[in-house]
Amino acid sequence: MIAERVIRVTERLTPADLDHAAALLRAGELVAFPTETVYGLGADATNDAAVAAIFEAKARPRFNPLIVHVIDEAAARRLVRFDERAAILARRFWPGPLSLVLPRTPDCPVSLLASAGLDSLALRVPAHPLPRALIRAVGRPIAAPSANRSGRVSPTTAEHVLDELDGRIAAVLDGGACRVGVESTVVDLTGPRPRLLRPGGAAAEAIEAAVGPLERAGADETAPRSPGMLASHYAPSLPLRLDAREVRPQEALLAFGPRPPRGAKEVRWLSRKGDLVEAAANLFAALRALDRPEFGAIAVMPIPEHGIGLAINDRLRRAAAPRP
Ligand code: AMP
Ligand code: MG
Repeated sequence: MIAERVIRVTERLTPADLDHAAALLRAGELVAFPTETVYGLGADATNDAAVAAIFEAKARPRFNPLIVHVIDEAAARRLVRFDERAAILARRFWPGPLSLVLPRTPDCPVSLLASAGLDSLALRVPAHPLPRALIRAVGRPIAAPSANRSGRVSPTTAEHVLDELDGRIAAVLDGGACRVGVESTVVDLTGPRPRLLRPGGAAAEAIEAAVGPLERAGADETAPRSPGMLASHYAPSLPLRLDAREVRPQEALLAFGPRPPRGAKEVRWLSRKGDLVEAAANLFAALRALDRPEFGAIAVMPIPEHGIGLAINDRLRRAAAPRP
């Protein structure tokens, strides 16, 4: 593998950086890059060995399918069968933080590994200019799960990526902090009713306004349908205590709103003004910052359960779940 290299880009990729990153991807190497949600670990989705390398680098269970990134709806239609609901959601939310699970076309060139044995494929059209330029330059769909070790907190900076994957990837494109901060919303359109597999950056309320009520994935369902539904995921090393209204000894506090309880060994704000969008953008970096051995646990103040708050609470519940 080519030695790890950070390609720093603030606004735009230089043509040389873009060529380099695209050449790595076409050669089957792994390249991490920012998206508006979190940093992704990218590979040529049509190359079985490259897709397998994603699972290796992340130590990700093979039953956990990957989201594949394409440039637009037309590119998506070459890989999966669209129906009317998919067309409505694509037009309303793409490019953006919504992934659609749809039936693969018979001649879909995406590696079956990316579907983890299912006959469906999750697709997303990112809005961030950097992955868009990269997808165009490579000219192929790019498989890209979050660029962290499986089960751990998702990365929202290039530094987070290197903390966990340095030496296992060819390069990371550094585009600064991610705007949305939590992963895409995943909606399954393979059944008669649209189904919310994972709350995320696109608000469930807005999706329901476009295509009607979403079935919610029940807690009884497990990995093969949607591994983002694994009970323990997004986990820091310290235990998390949710809905904390007071601070206990040795606890650090993840605060939301202007009046946090006193007594924490350290406080990080998701949002001082109680803004859910700001809170989502800060969530993973704040969890990482408080995940230090001098604390006994991380207490988390209550987060309202609407809009992107659904995604924040989903990630927090999994981060707090008993570890396997
Ligand atoms: P990650 O790549 O870690 O951001 O997670 C990808 C999410 O998309 C996981 O929750 C997967 O379960 C879900 N996903 C990807 N492909 C499929 C699929 N074909 N069917 C159901 N869920 C999927
Ligand atoms: Mg992930």
